[in-house]
Amino acid sequence: MNDTSIIHPDVCRRCAAVGRTCCAVSSGDEQYCFPVSAAEMTAIRGTGESGECFVLAANTAGFVEQLAVLLPDCDIEKAFPSQGSHWRLATTAEGRCVFLGEGGCRLERSVRPFYCRLFPLWYFEGRLTWFTAEECLANRECSSLASMLGAMGTDSDEARALHREMCEKLGLECSSKVKS
Ligand code: SF4
Ligand code: SF4
Repeated sequence: MNDTSIIHPDVCRRCAAVGRTCCAVSSGDEQYCFPVSAAEMTAIRGTGESGECFVLAANTAGFVEQLAVLLPDCDIEKAFPSQGSHWRLATTAEGRCVFLGEGGCRLERSVRPFYCRLFPLWYFEGRLTWFTAEECLANRECSSLASMLGAMGTDSDEARALHREMCEKLGLECSSKVKS
C-alpha cells in the first residue's frame, strides 16, 4: 500500500481530504495556470503517464501579467511573447489538475513540476516567503517561515534551488537577486 506521507507533506494530504487544494482552478481561470517546461514534461512522461497530461495554451495578456507579478525579477515577455504559447498541466472540466487524486497528487514528488514542489513557498524579490491564500491549509496552520518550511518538509536551500531551476527550465532570464 502506498504511504502517501512519503510523497505528501501531512498538511497537503489533509488539505486534499477536505478541499480543492492549490491543484485546482476555477472555471475560466485556466489561462492563469503556471507554465511547465519541456524538461518537466519529459520527467512526467517518463513515469509512463498516458493520456492528455498537458495543454498548449496561448500567452494571453492575463497570463503574462500574472507571471510578471509572481516573478518581478524575470524577463517574462522575452520568454513568453504575446503571440506565443506555452504548455501547462491539463485540467479536468472541474478545473482539477489531471494528476490530482483523492489523496493528493498522484505523481512522486521528484517528478512534479518545480512550482508544485515549491508551493506555497516562493521567492519574491529575492526573499523566501509563502503565498497567504486562505484556502491553503499550510498557510492557515503556519505563522512563521520556519514552521512553513518544516510543514512542507523542506529547507531554504532546497526552496532556492527549486525556484532557480524552475526559472532556468522555463527559459526565464532573471536578475542575480533571484538566482543567488
Ligand atoms: S502535478 Fe500534482 S502537485 Fe502539481 S498541480 Fe497537479 S496534482 Fe497538484
Ligand atoms: S500547498 Fe496549501 S493549498 Fe496546496 S495542497 Fe498543500 S496545504 Fe493545500
